[in-house]
Amino acid sequence: MNKVVIIRYCEIHLKGKNRGYFERVFMNNLEKSLTGIRHEIHKLSGRYVVDGFLEDEAEEIVLRLQKVFGVHSVSIAYKVSAGMESIWEAVLKVAPENGTFKVQASRGDKSFPLNSMQINAEIGGRLLAHNPLLKVDVHTPEHEVYIDVRENGTALVFSKMIPGAGGMPVGTAGKGMLLLSGGIDSPVAAYMIAKRGMTPICLHFHSYPYTNMQAREKVEELAHILAGYTGGLDLLVVKVTTIQEAIHKYCAEEMMVTLLRRFMMRIAERLAIRFGAQCIVTGESLGQVASQTIEGMTSSNAVVKTMPVLRPVVGFDKTEIIERARKIGTFDTSILPYEDCCTVFLPKHPIIRPSLASVEEQEKKLNVDSLLDEAIESLEVVHIQ
Ligand code: ATP
Ligand code: MG
Repeated sequence: MNKVVIIRYCEIHLKGKNRGYFERVFMNNLEKSLTGIRHEIHKLSGRYVVDGFLEDEAEEIVLRLQKVFGVHSVSIAYKVSAGMESIWEAVLKVAPENGTFKVQASRGDKSFPLNSMQINAEIGGRLLAHNPLLKVDVHTPEHEVYIDVRENGTALVFSKMIPGAGGMPVGTAGKGMLLLSGGIDSPVAAYMIAKRGMTPICLHFHSYPYTNMQAREKVEELAHILAGYTGGLDLLVVKVTTIQEAIHKYCAEEMMVTLLRRFMMRIAERLAIRFGAQCIVTGESLGQVASQTIEGMTSSNAVVKTMPVLRPVVGFDKTEIIERARKIGTFDTSILPYEDCCTVFLPKHPIIRPSLASVEEQEKKLNVDSLLDEAIESLEVVHIQ
């Protein structure tokens, strides 16, 4: 008897003709997540099985697989030869200690002497006789014991379905240029597009020396946490100090953030084209702060000419975003108190509903193209595993 891990997947089966492609990407992502652990992954009909690992690594394997998008659920199972006595031995290892239960057998091997109903009855009967604290409840059992008799003379026995991350395999829905600040919202936005299969390329703006090295390290740490869900990613870092100084010097104070956003968007679009991303993604939520009103978004969208701007958390309250951030493990890093470039030269009264015309009027005071060129010159690329 040895331990294996069963992986069930989500929507991949919906993809018709593209199914083979989705499955290849998924398999590759599964493999990547288990880097450093000796294992084999086998594809069965409707699920995958991880085999050939050291028994005490099962929990670690589950933790890693739970983060792979496309995984619906995982189970640690015992693999035994397909005979009632060896199945019973494994059942004893996974059976609940008390409460109500139900046995759920399925039979891939139709030559197995008992059919599913008979296996359920036989194993259920043995469990009742073995432990008087157990009761059968076939409708709403507290526990389930699963027995999967396979075609190849083995059976898998398990009792827990551990939920996975859901979603689609990362790499099946293109690339997005994700504006990653050090805040709470943008890492959640990154998680959400990755969950739908898009590979995020993270883009961070700093304004050294107004922002410090710790702010930079914090963003690298956030990217590192996100990379755990995507099997690695690229972090692009761009300096916008000169842009901010120019806006501060020449433009109306209350427009600082609005104007800076337009520069961020232009840089994001240029880099998206260079790095093969098909959209820009931000962590904006409608009305959360002055620059995230629909007028603010209109003003920043207006400079993006060739691709959509996605805002996956646009309809979330802050409390909902925080809940997600905690769940995905970015929250504690996000709340570290370092300056973001948006807090440099922050006006006392930022404009809440900027009209596009007034924004464009202010922007005329700047040499937009040369400021953009200078910022893009400063690009650094960090590969995060
Ligand atoms: P977050 O928690 O993601 O920082 P926020 O509520 O602080 O969001 P803003 O600071 O207004 O909101 O930023 C809105 C969005 O603009 C962010 O979600 C992010 O996508 C982008 N952004 C802001 N600052 C930066 C930055 N320094 N580098 C890259 N993107 C940024
Ligand atoms: Mg922020």
